[in-house]
Amino acid sequence: MAQDNLTAVLYGINDIRLEQTPIEEPSDNEVLLEMACVGICGSDVHYLVNGRIGDFIVKKPMIIGHESSGKVAKLGKNVKNLKVGDRVAIEPGVSCRTCQFCKEGRYNLCKDMVFCATPPVHGSLRRYFKHAADFCYKLPDHMSYEEGALLEPLSVGVHACKRANIGIGSKVLILGAGPIGLVSLLVAKAMGATVVAITDMVERRLILAKQLGADKVVLIDKNMKEDETVKLIHNIFDGEPDKTIEATGAESSVRLAILATKSGGCSVLVGMGAPEVQVPLINALIREVDIRGVFRYANDYADALDLVATGKVNVKPLITHNFNIKQTVDAFEAAKSISSGAIKVMIHCQ
Ligand SMILES: [Zn+2]
Ligand SMILES: [Zn+2]
Repeated sequence: MAQDNLTAVLYGINDIRLEQTPIEEPSDNEVLLEMACVGICGSDVHYLVNGRIGDFIVKKPMIIGHESSGKVAKLGKNVKNLKVGDRVAIEPGVSCRTCQFCKEGRYNLCKDMVFCATPPVHGSLRRYFKHAADFCYKLPDHMSYEEGALLEPLSVGVHACKRANIGIGSKVLILGAGPIGLVSLLVAKAMGATVVAITDMVERRLILAKQLGADKVVLIDKNMKEDETVKLIHNIFDGEPDKTIEATGAESSVRLAILATKSGGCSVLVGMGAPEVQVPLINALIREVDIRGVFRYANDYADALDLVATGKVNVKPLITHNFNIKQTVDAFEAAKSISSGAIKVMIHCQ
């Protein structure tokens, strides 16, 4: 086997270095993967630029990357679900499998979750990476490695739409046309939503949203008064959205997620911003607007895979940039610069 295990290590703020690391031996229930694609996530950029997300702080050098796919190179001795040569999508968070949350199927809430590239856990942006075999999903031949890596953000969209109970007849407002807003749009349409409108402050993103199937797009003007923005959204729906997916984390947007949602509707919060925001909670109370949190995903990877495999969802247009692992520093530059127009930056590991 090749000894080259080029690895992208985050040392600190704006300090990513490429270096060789040892190829790890898979334990009994793990597989060694020859990595294929790793997408850059907003959270990766956040760790690069700020060195932390909330209480998760990069204190020691950490291997970055968690949206990934690869080929099985070696099996641990108990592995039955995969064979050498299988192409797989890698679900990056491995839960304990024994606590109450895990047993109830809400393993995203597991307190012992080990999640790639969330400090202090190392990520997957390297040539070889070992992972729990039961968190690897075999890709059908007609699905690409790029699509396999994109199942990670797509699973967030699947989880958000399930939490909002989207179905036939739903009128869905999505706040923010970044990667998570866009995948939520794709899933909402696939789940049968009747009207999906998406907002952003950047016009270019709305053009892509239209291409991806948004029925309506709303350019948000941050100088506009809040009640006027709510009116604008209601005009666009010719009524009120009964489901809202907040995918920015910005306070003004979280407020809109409550104020614009129809009485009796549901607002799910996916975007993560400041730990405390001021919101009109009593407005939600008197109008019975349910507010639900969305944290990553649980039991959604297989559904995301099926959506892509059956052609119900096309994630490929999300990829705006491609780089080789040797160009990781440039790839992150593209991902963090607004002028690059990046939606999803994909790094190819071999
Ligand atoms: Zn991600
Ligand atoms: Zn658990």
